[in-house]
Amino acid sequence: MDILNLSNIQVTKIQENEHDYAISAVRPTPPLFCPECGFSDLKKFGKKQKLYMDLPIHAKRVGIFMEQQRFQCRSCQSTFREQYEDVMDERRFMTKRLVDFIEKQSLKRTFVSLSEELGVDEKTIRSIFREYVNRLEEQVRIETPQWLGIDEIHILSKARCVITNIEQRTLVDMLTNRNKETVIRYLHHLENKKRIRYVTMDMWNPYRDAVKEVLPQAKIIVDKFHVVRMANDCLETVRKQLRADLTQKQRRQLMHDRFVLLKRNHDLTEREILLLEVWSTQYPILQQVYDLKEGFYKVWDSESKTMAKVRLEEWKKGITSELKDAFLPLTKALKNWEDEIFAYFDHPITNAYTESLNSLIRVINRLGRGYSFEALRAKILLTEGVKKKTKPSYNRQAFVESRMLKMMEAPLFYNSISNYESPKDFGVDLEKLVQWIEEDKL
Ligand SMILES: [Zn+2]
Repeated sequence: MDILNLSNIQVTKIQENEHDYAISAVRPTPPLFCPECGFSDLKKFGKKQKLYMDLPIHAKRVGIFMEQQRFQCRSCQSTFREQYEDVMDERRFMTKRLVDFIEKQSLKRTFVSLSEELGVDEKTIRSIFREYVNRLEEQVRIETPQWLGIDEIHILSKARCVITNIEQRTLVDMLTNRNKETVIRYLHHLENKKRIRYVTMDMWNPYRDAVKEVLPQAKIIVDKFHVVRMANDCLETVRKQLRADLTQKQRRQLMHDRFVLLKRNHDLTEREILLLEVWSTQYPILQQVYDLKEGFYKVWDSESKTMAKVRLEEWKKGITSELKDAFLPLTKALKNWEDEIFAYFDHPITNAYTESLNSLIRVINRLGRGYSFEALRAKILLTEGVKKKTKPSYNRQAFVESRMLKMMEAPLFYNSISNYESPKDFGVDLEKLVQWIEEDKL
């Protein structure tokens, strides 16, 4: 009745109740030598019971009560206990296979649910998880991008700094917050940071300060999508101010029609154009703000930087005194970030990248429930299968050289040749990540 199947552990008694198994066991073979002096004449010297947790059996938690024998050496008189290091983790008081199980599961499930299922406290699970993640991270070496993205995403109700590789469309890391010190520390520890040529970022001063300090060679760019979404925010400000003067019914309607205002002119359906007309006749300021938003988008549709600059000056003249306050965040940003904003025309990022990032923002919080940020980060960055990796290229030369060597040696049929080039890890593929979250696979 070897219910445990643990080598060199013998079960002596099994008890069970509704939730748990208590299994008594012994080590059937006593030690042969004294660990102090190597003498082989040992005598028994008392016993002690020790509890080790193990994997569940039949969905019940399992505790193994080991009758631990103590011995005394007849030669040097030293005493010692029986050791179980081959199967037990002595530090955690559990079987090694349970530690393995917790490690793997801690990336997939919440600590609370694991704790309940295994009868191991949450603190222990967290510490196993941490050590496991540290071990994994030591093995992971993500390529430093040539073109880095620094964005922010709200995750677990806090703004986090998200690092991406823009050319590869991958997620490289997620930082716990978006403070300057955090970003500096991260950038500082990047390998080959001199290879970073471009950094596209949100308009957030600490990011710019951090990059200027650590990556002085990198060109800072604010992408169009960061800028134009500010125009939408300004429009929203006006809509919300207007709402205060409306009746309950009108308010609901305006809320409902909000998306019409945010839509680009050329994407409006006939019905939506009509809706817009109704609103603007009633509230001319809505028409004004809509036109202003559209005009702003048109600036960024310009084909050249010079053209955009001219259009922007024109656009600014269209901000009436009535709308000045609502558009202040945008006009301020245009002033403070002018160089970086216009650098977009030299280095625009692709729509595909922007779409992937926006999809991630949309779905990421489905993943958050029950996790700490730290666990969520590890789950995303360390799960195999969502990674974008390359194999080293086919190295013909290595085979040719080895054939020449072989002629000098005894003939062999099979020869394993090591690759000079190592595979590259670019981080987590954004599209695949979104897909996995949507399919509940992560
Ligand atoms: Zn001894």
